[in-house]
Amino acid sequence: MTIRTEPKILKRSLATIIDYGLYFVFFSWLVVTYGHPNDEGGYTLSNDPKGWWICIVWIIYFPVIESIRGQTLGKLILGLRVVTKNGRAISFGQALKRHLVDMIDFFFFGIVAVITIKNTPDHQRVGDLWAKTIVIGGDSVTCTNCKEPLALTAKEIIEKQFICPMCRATIKM
Ligand SMILES: [Zn+2]
Repeated sequence: MTIRTEPKILKRSLATIIDYGLYFVFFSWLVVTYGHPNDEGGYTLSNDPKGWWICIVWIIYFPVIESIRGQTLGKLILGLRVVTKNGRAISFGQALKRHLVDMIDFFFFGIVAVITIKNTPDHQRVGDLWAKTIVIGGDSVTCTNCKEPLALTAKEIIEKQFICPMCRATIKM
């Protein structure tokens, strides 16, 4: 059964800003520390093997950690998790696919991601469509017992049940 998910554009944007913000700090530190000043007034790391760390750290931070935990640090902070359409853990290949096209999704302040998230039934950006993944966590539900509107954690969505904090009923989805 496919899991119902909401767009969560603000949370997903904030998670991305945290993740790529941290990555940019690392990138800048590496280039300024080990790079050589170039003619344009910046720094360059070309022909230096330390430049490989730009790729290695990206692979570890995005596809490796996301496939192991289902979330990067940004998603952990925002309560988001990446899963397959039926709520299973994603593979390394899926995590790699969804991040390889990050730059397409981020084009012009993320306009591509926002348009595809808003216009696809499972609210997927281009990377999610290619990797067949969805982003869950914080999605709304109404308690079938007391009718209280609630937000579900990723764990509750995956386990397809939750305990209502208002009426204490265990609700299966
Ligand atoms: Zn309830």
